[in-house]
Amino acid sequence: MRAGKVARASGRPATLPTMRTLVVDHPLIAHKLTALRDAGTEAPTFRRLADELVTLLAYEATREVHVQPVSVNTPLALAEGVRLARPVPLVVPIMRAGIGMLDGMARLLPTADVGFVGLVRDEKSLIASTYADRLPADLTGRQAFVLDPMLATGGTLETVIGMLAGRGATAVTAICLIAAPEGVSRIEAAFPSDQPAGVRVVTAAVDDHLDERGYIVPGLGDAGDRLFGEI
Ligand code: URA
Repeated sequence: MRAGKVARASGRPATLPTMRTLVVDHPLIAHKLTALRDAGTEAPTFRRLADELVTLLAYEATREVHVQPVSVNTPLALAEGVRLARPVPLVVPIMRAGIGMLDGMARLLPTADVGFVGLVRDEKSLIASTYADRLPADLTGRQAFVLDPMLATGGTLETVIGMLAGRGATAVTAICLIAAPEGVSRIEAAFPSDQPAGVRVVTAAVDDHLDERGYIVPGLGDAGDRLFGEI
């Protein structure tokens, strides 16, 4: 069993043991993703489709969310069940495009806390730098769900997973609408392992390749621009 080591803010190494990629195979997801890719789909429809896709992906992404036993009184008898365990999960949209995924995620996990990270990618070097960090300082024992529509080079996601692991998160699941093989390989290399928890990527598709500008092909173009317009 191998473990991916990530430097913690404290200097202690954090261990995030697993990297697994799940491509969710479902006809409704494929249908909505096809409409999302279409260059003729305008922003209002694009936003609605992205929102719906996230909720569908989140259903799979939260399969291992921590719950604790609880019993409730039905009108007839006592019933054993579960509720979300504490500490509640942390949802982290990566600005800007990840904001377009927040409502779809919050629909399934309304009690989760939300942290924000902003990264911008240099168009020439494709290297991402952090311009905003609104994450809790201590994530010990917490599960985190990172929202980023496009897993392209993987540099942004690797940085954000490293930030979360460095603060003690025990499991990080990235939800991406589309991934490039290059990005998946990078995250797998950064956080390798074979345990049933740790780092996971849940996506609707792994596309063909990245072009020279770092765009996923065939992809859907610039997700931020399609959600919020060109600025
Ligand atoms: N970011 C995007 O918005 N689209 C891509 O294809 C790659 C990165």
